[in-house]
Amino acid sequence: MSGILDGRKVAAEIHAEVAAGVRELIEGGGRAPGLSVIRVGDDPASEVYVASKTRSAEEAGFTGGSIVLPASTSAGELVARVHELNRAAEVDGILLQLPLPEGLPERDILLAIDPDKDVDGLHPLNAGRLWSDLEGFVPCTPGGILELLRRYEVPLKGARAVIVGRSQLVGKPLAALLLREHSTVTVCHSRTRDLAAVCREADILVGAVGRPALLGPDHVRAGAVVVDVGINRVHDRAEVERLFPGDEQRMATFERRGAVLVGDVDYTRVAPSASLITPVPGGVGPLTVAMLLANTLTSARRRQGRS
Ligand code: NAD
Repeated sequence: MSGILDGRKVAAEIHAEVAAGVRELIEGGGRAPGLSVIRVGDDPASEVYVASKTRSAEEAGFTGGSIVLPASTSAGELVARVHELNRAAEVDGILLQLPLPEGLPERDILLAIDPDKDVDGLHPLNAGRLWSDLEGFVPCTPGGILELLRRYEVPLKGARAVIVGRSQLVGKPLAALLLREHSTVTVCHSRTRDLAAVCREADILVGAVGRPALLGPDHVRAGAVVVDVGINRVHDRAEVERLFPGDEQRMATFERRGAVLVGDVDYTRVAPSASLITPVPGGVGPLTVAMLLANTLTSARRRQGRS
């Protein structure tokens, strides 16, 4: 039977450590970290994510908040706002909530962010720093996964890690981080041949795909550590019943919301053979915000010469 990699618990620990770090910074005569989150348009999921980020930042004692711009904002206007934040002395971290509304060039806007305030780690300079073993900002989700594995003392050195998904946001930076920890890393994607066979080689299997329950028992070797990054909404009742047979709590959520969150891993069928596994929700998700706060505190310390 498996154990749980409890992302909520680890995230709470990180939140408390960050809040303590902020107090220490201020008691030492420094300034509280400042985080500005930019949201463009009215995507409901982005609204929820941004609210959660700014609330957590406030609770940790940060200054700043969210800047909400209409979907009609032009690329030029958006870049101008980013440049303003780049110049603002009290802003240590800038986060551009993705996805942007159709027509706005994500890459160009991300490039406008000062890499030393890019606490989301998505600027190409920070991606390059990561692969070059230089100090920079690590994207929050893979950074959080590493922190989770470390705090549960999952052996990484020499371990066979298989990551399914090669995005800039998760798969690629996680590969760099695990390589740095001396794991042997394989990155799979939509064209990988015989995905299940590759996955079965993993001591640590990470799903970062965005396909509900793609990874089933055929993909998991007995005793593997399984990390599920996927956040998928399943609206089909029969599919929810198939994925979570007899799970009354899950069905109650379905009745209330008309959908449930499902990861990339078929949790019900995989959990019995995994040694440790992240639940969805409550696994990787909470760590993303925690690492955003940790990165912003690091930036504030660096920018005040207190690192
Ligand atoms: P993405 O769409 O950018 O990348 C998906 C990757 O999966 C691609 O590399 C693609 O090649 C691969 N892929 C697609 N179909 C495949 C298949 N059938 N077999 C093997 N590989 C396949 O996605 P992303 O931004 O990395 O996000 C992945 C998932 O993680 C999504 O569900 C997203 O919502 C979630 N996510 C969660 C958090 C969090 O905080 N928990 C953060 C970021 C992303």
